[in-house]
Amino acid sequence: MAPLAGMGYLINMSDKTRIKIEKRDSVFSAAHFLADMGKCERMHGHNYFISVEVEGAPDRRGAVIDFNLLDSIVSRVCQPLDHKILIAQKSPTAQVAVNGAEVEVNFKNKRYLLPVEDCLLLPLDSTTVESLAGYLLDKISEELGDTAGRLGQIEVGVGEGGSKMAYRQKIVG
Ligand SMILES: [Zn+2]
Repeated sequence: MAPLAGMGYLINMSDKTRIKIEKRDSVFSAAHFLADMGKCERMHGHNYFISVEVEGAPDRRGAVIDFNLLDSIVSRVCQPLDHKILIAQKSPTAQVAVNGAEVEVNFKNKRYLLPVEDCLLLPLDSTTVESLAGYLLDKISEELGDTAGRLGQIEVGVGEGGSKMAYRQKIVG
């Protein structure tokens, strides 16, 4: 790793290191439905868990990123999803409308009328773990701010119980 005057350290690919945080216990619990996916069309809930893997070159302290910083960011971005009904606002199958204090969702022969304060409307096509992983990846990248510029890649995994997980990754550096 070569020091750059006033610019920290130049990332040398040979220094590439990955660190990972796995949060398995009660990261967030939420209800959702998948508008075109068999039994998952019925509203149901999960205790979601998350993993975040970050790749980069260790800084002069020998750390890719401060684990405590990453852990607090993960908690912060997940908190708004906790104990909410997750609604995919851009669903191609379901019509979602906010009418005052209520959210109305229509698809097929179903109509949900839900208190808006119990819902989190997400700018997504669906609330599959694949989509939620992409959403949380964007949120975590935003929260990392300038720190993300020093990293090479971030990967977020979201699980919904048992062994079901989806991963999304992007190059940030
Ligand atoms: Zn589900």
